[in-house]
Amino acid sequence: MTTEGTLPLALVTGGSTGIGQHLVGALARAGFAVAFSYRSSSGPADAMVAALIGEGHAVLAVRGDVGVRQDVDAFIEKAVEWAGCAPTLLVNNAGIQTWSPLLDLPEERWDEVIRTNLKGCFLHTQNVGRRMADSGLGGAIVNIGSGCNKLAFPNLVDYTASKGGIEQFTKSAAVELGQYGITVNCIAPGAIATERTAKEAPDYAADWSMITPLGRVGTPEDLVGPLLFFAGPAARFVTGQTLWVDGGVFTRAAWPYGG
Ligand code: NDP
Repeated sequence: MTTEGTLPLALVTGGSTGIGQHLVGALARAGFAVAFSYRSSSGPADAMVAALIGEGHAVLAVRGDVGVRQDVDAFIEKAVEWAGCAPTLLVNNAGIQTWSPLLDLPEERWDEVIRTNLKGCFLHTQNVGRRMADSGLGGAIVNIGSGCNKLAFPNLVDYTASKGGIEQFTKSAAVELGQYGITVNCIAPGAIATERTAKEAPDYAADWSMITPLGRVGTPEDLVGPLLFFAGPAARFVTGQTLWVDGGVFTRAAWPYGG
């Protein structure tokens, strides 16, 4: 899926920390040239690029805001010039959360979450979708969702609305882009232990392990296999799907009688 002599190009949004950071490393080790964006964490981004280049991989970090078209276009243009080919894979990972009851949520926070999580996904998919279509080679787009794709979490109305949007966006994009050989799927992670989640709730891993049928919290590594599946030939006839990578936690109904 690339011009001769070049590595296939994968783009990852929000690759400087957490899940995105881990996915960038995994894709580089799987043989992709990986370009990732981030908003402000230059330190972790630079350190990761240095480490992966040191291991012999091709990695590029570009600072920019996923919700601003100019930044998105510049990120993708830079990545394509760098890699010398159209993207084969796009991972729409960047996402933020705010915590507030609906009745107190400031309008600006609502706008920021929707712009980052949902509009960011749209802007990248549109730009990369056009390039994949023009290349005649198709490609794979993987959106990172959440339990909020289907369930309402308390005090996260903006985040929940954005991830519900990702669920439907994935399906619409799959239906429209199929004609170009582009698959669009979603990975909906359960509770994943990252620096951010540990900071937000010190008992995060223990709390979520208790209600997760597989008895543990997830790690970013748990998302790698599903991502490589959607990105690879084994999933070439799979599109418009959401894969729950959650240890079963969002399959379990709230149940008043124990068990
Ligand atoms: P982190 O906060 O650790 O990482 C978020 C990444 O997105 C960072 O690289 C951050 O860059 C980047 N980012 C945020 N806003 C922007 C922006 N406007 N423009 C460019 N980059 C931006 O989060 P996680 O790794 O935990 O989450 C990653 C994804 O996984 C999100 O979509 C989240 O909703 C989803 N998810 C996570 C779960 C979990 O348990 N961790 C569970 C379910 C879903 P910077 O640091 O520079 O701001």
